[in-house]
Amino acid sequence: MKIEPIKIFQQKRPVIVSGPCSAETEEQTLETCRRVAATGKVDILRAGIWKPRTRPNSFEGIGSEGLKWMRKAKEETGLPISVEVANFNHVFEALKADVDILWIGARTTVNPFSVQEIANALEGTDATVFVKNPINADLELWTGALERLNRAGVTKLGMIHRGFAQHGNSIYRNEPKWQLAVEMKLRFPDIPMLCDPSHIAGNRELLQPISQQALDMDYEGLMIESHIDPENAWSDKQQQVTPEQLDEILNELTIRRPEVPDIELNEKLKHLRRQIDMVDDDLLELLGNRMKIAEEIGEVKKEKGVTILQTNRWEEIIEKASAKGKLQGLSERFMIRYLNAIHQESIDHQNEVMNRSELEEE
Ligand code: PEP
Ligand code: MN
Repeated sequence: MKIEPIKIFQQKRPVIVSGPCSAETEEQTLETCRRVAATGKVDILRAGIWKPRTRPNSFEGIGSEGLKWMRKAKEETGLPISVEVANFNHVFEALKADVDILWIGARTTVNPFSVQEIANALEGTDATVFVKNPINADLELWTGALERLNRAGVTKLGMIHRGFAQHGNSIYRNEPKWQLAVEMKLRFPDIPMLCDPSHIAGNRELLQPISQQALDMDYEGLMIESHIDPENAWSDKQQQVTPEQLDEILNELTIRRPEVPDIELNEKLKHLRRQIDMVDDDLLELLGNRMKIAEEIGEVKKEKGVTILQTNRWEEIIEKASAKGKLQGLSERFMIRYLNAIHQESIDHQNEVMNRSELEEE
């Protein structure tokens, strides 16, 4: 892919994008943008003009009218503006209104037809486009969207990590699944990664720690929703903060660097990393042994005609291992993920043993 740098990302780190979830009224849009700009910490303004809402009875955006307000905000503050686009007409309208950066929302990245339509609309322009991760944890869709845009000649691309929908209880509105965003950073090292803690958290309290984590993982920017009166926002009210609260969140962030020219520190890190590598080797060897035992169990079960899955036994393992994990300072969340991964791999090994012997017997 031919990627060109986006100027602001070469000048500042982290790049901060902020503004309301939705442009609601001229007053609310302009006043939010003015106060956000007054913090002196924000580089790009944002507002949703067309809102892809999950349920039809929610506010679905003010429409093109809001573009005029954003344009005014740009003139007044001197800051570039960004809006979400989801179809050909949005792109046309946004470019006509001198919008500097377009972003593709999570509900659009999932749909290759929509992404292609946007890419076609952008052909021959010099647009900068940020692509949010798709709602579901599918890196190929996220990658595909970047490729479609790039094929249409869009070279100034960014990625926004806004978390992934999940079923059931979670402290997050959208699970961050950090390792997926990190994988995208590895796939596309030249494309800046922004974190959107607002849509990951779904509440104000978690904005700070999620933003800090993103910076600690070497993200290039943050997109945080702000509103002059969050309690009365027409969309996403639990997660929006006032421009002044945004200022505080940004003030509290510690900016760390990926490398430091400190010999003593680097030596210490090298030593600790060597230890980690050795522990990892041991863990892999132990896991290999565990799977060999699982295979032997598979042989025995096959011989006696017993099913692979025995719920009682598995429940017993979970209970014992979770208690032991707790003593080791391992979180319950991790233990469940760890045990499930091990269990799945054991089942796969046993399955293979059973099927293999069946074939051999024929
Ligand atoms: C938004 O940024 O307001 C938005 C709709 O986000 P997402 O596409 O991540 O849900
Ligand atoms: Mn929102």
